[in-house]
Amino acid sequence: MKADIGVIGGTSIYSLMGEAKDTEVKTKYGDPSDKIGMLSIGGKQVAFVPRHGKKHTIPPQQVPYKANLQALKDMGVGRIISTGAVGSLRLDYRPGDFVLFDQFVNMTHGRADTIFDGNKVTHVGMGEPYCPEMRALAYEIATDAGIDVHKHGTIVVINGPRYSTKAESKMFSSMNIDVINMTQYPETALARELGICYLGIGIVTDYDSGLEDAEHKASSFKEQAAKFTENLDKLKGLMTKLIAQIPEKRSCNCAASLEGATNSL
Ligand SMILES: [Zn+2]
Repeated sequence: MKADIGVIGGTSIYSLMGEAKDTEVKTKYGDPSDKIGMLSIGGKQVAFVPRHGKKHTIPPQQVPYKANLQALKDMGVGRIISTGAVGSLRLDYRPGDFVLFDQFVNMTHGRADTIFDGNKVTHVGMGEPYCPEMRALAYEIATDAGIDVHKHGTIVVINGPRYSTKAESKMFSSMNIDVINMTQYPETALARELGICYLGIGIVTDYDSGLEDAEHKASSFKEQAAKFTENLDKLKGLMTKLIAQIPEKRSCNCAASLEGATNSL
């Protein structure tokens, strides 16, 4: 089964986008999170990976990231759009805003986070982990649609499943990090290792605990899910246009991520 574009996110978004045909995929790293949903959108074949499983049973620290990414690579996917909820670490990134990530800070531990753990030493550059071409296009489409969207966002990825203490949260804010979640790493890094363009779209659901005061509240997981659902129509509109408008040829250099990454001696 071949696909042009991969989407990794919650089941709510792709069930909104049309009738998907489920396909079972196996990879050299094991099974992905669940069956992969195949959809045709704007003339492109889209493969949808439900990150936490269709019944939302896989916590962030147990997501089979390598299998999910390898499954998309095996299908011939050149671009991935990832969606998810994020907490805000600054007051001007407000609940309901969209954020297009351009940098990540990894604070997870113990996750299988590279495909280069064999006996060949490979160091992949991670200076620009997100695809600039897809980010620019997503920003243009979101702005035209009147979505409150931030073109830049540094995201810190914590292991979870617990949320941050106020001290941790304040530390991240003081480091000029914009938003927080539990799944952008190693997903982004693995996509880059595989030479796949990767776009991360976050929807701010609440303020993180360090920003809490009388006016700004951190939410429970249940409240965050409700906030995400509130914004699904906007996300659906953005994704549909984006998938249709993504040019067939890549003009970025994401595919060249392995150039010079190994020493041939
Ligand atoms: Zn790219």
